[in-house]
Formats: sequence, C-alpha cells, structure tokens
Amino acid sequence: MGVAQLPLLAANWKMNPIDGGAALDLVKGILPVASEHSDRVEVALFPPFPWLLGVAEMLDQTGIELGAQDCFWEMSGAYTGEVSPAMLKGWCQWVLVGHSERRAYLGETDEMVARKAAAALSSDLSVIMCVGELDEHYVAGKGDEVVSAQVRSGLSSCSADDSSRLVIAYEPIWAIGTGKSADPEHAYKTMRLIRRVVGETIGAGAARKVRVLYGGSVNSGNVESYVELPLCDGCLVGGASLKAEEFSEIVKVTAAVYAHG
Ligand code: PEP
Repeated sequence: MGVAQLPLLAANWKMNPIDGGAALDLVKGILPVASEHSDRVEVALFPPFPWLLGVAEMLDQTGIELGAQDCFWEMSGAYTGEVSPAMLKGWCQWVLVGHSERRAYLGETDEMVARKAAAALSSDLSVIMCVGELDEHYVAGKGDEVVSAQVRSGLSSCSADDSSRLVIAYEPIWAIGTGKSADPEHAYKTMRLIRRVVGETIGAGAARKVRVLYGGSVNSGNVESYVELPLCDGCLVGGASLKAEEFSEIVKVTAAVYAHG
C-alpha cells in the first residue's frame, strides 16, 4: 500500500455509454455507495470526453473524482482531435495513459506514453499509467521483461516529486475484457516487480508513495482476492464499472477489506 494513501478504484468506462443521459444515470447509480465509503476508498470515474463536463457537475462536492481516458503531450496548438492536460485540468483530477487498447488500436508507444504522463503531471493532474503483457509474452515467460521495460520507459520523464500523483496499473492484456482474471499470486509478483522498477527508475522513497493497481476482469466476486494483497493499492475496473450495482458492490468489498486491514 502506498504511504498514507487510500486504496483507489478507477472506473474505466471506455467508449461507453453512447448516450449522455445513460452516463448521468450511471453516475447516479454509483454515487450513494461511493460517497458513503469515500473516507475508506478513493473512487475515480473515467467517462468518455463528451460526458466529462456533465459528470463533473454531478460529482461536485461528492468526494468522488473524475478522470479522462487519455490526453496529448502538448498543451495547445495544431493537433487536430487531441485534448491537452491544460484543458482537462478544469474538470478532472486524473488522466489515464497507456491503456493497452490505445497501444493496440492507435499505435501508442512507450515514448508517447512517457510524454503524456509527464505533460499530465506538469499540469497537476494525477496519472494512472497502464502496463501489461500480451498473452504470448505471458506464455513465453517474458511478462516480467515486457512490464519492466514499459514501466522504465513510461517513467523516463517523471521524477520522485511526482510519486504521490502517480499510479501504475498492472493490466495483463490477456485478462482485459476476457473474463479470465489473473491469478492473484501472479498479480502480486508482478506488482512487486513494478514497485521495484519504480524504485530503480525514480527512487526508493518514491516507490513507496506510488500506488500500484491490478486491472483485468475485476468484478465483485474476485476483487477481494486482489485488494487483500499486501502490495495492491486498488483496482482499475472496465466492464464491471458500467453496471452501477456491480461497481457499488466492488466499492463495498474494497472498503470492508481495508476496514479490517
Ligand atoms: C480496463 O479496461 O482497463 C479493464 C481492466 O477492463 P475489464 O475490467 O473489462 O477487463
């Protein structure tokens, strides 16, 4: 667990829902339980860009935070279609960078992820940087190598000063949206490795402050097996965060684990 930080549950809605009204309904459904437990669990919602403003208004004064699913590395200029950290800053506390879907479908490289993370941190946003190996890497026993390289490159423009606003999400790609969640023992070993690489890259003191999450087919039935792990600071939740009841249950289970831990 990071130094004096709450566990974090980050809800990545991906490109859902397609209707703005449904996005607000989802927030309405999540708010009661998330607010009730906000002294024990930090909850951050990551809706698509067009819904950020409406969701921001609903989250005002609730203790629930808001994040964008991506950002660009420049603050303004001739970058058609991009959204800068400076623009997000008014609405969001968080930004997600390096999600495997962006790496796979949009060709995002470790270098781009590093530039995005550094730009977001310089705009006072908190960052969740996603890393994780493909199934073929996992099967070939190369997962640690791949994840270490992603963490090292991703943090290449970050410093120890950023550590309390930096979160690394370990998301094995074979576990994302597949229903095939990682064995907690495997998740634990990789999260331990991530913390070690963070220490080597930006310093041991920083490594204690950086939070490390697990992501990949988390639901209310398996979340306990991750959040109870000693080095796990929470979860990044995709599909299950689109169902208010299911996500609320994930919040309750996490709050109960930390109440006893
Ligand atoms: C994700 O999109 O980051 C994710 C973990 O998705 P899911 O929970 O659906 O596997």
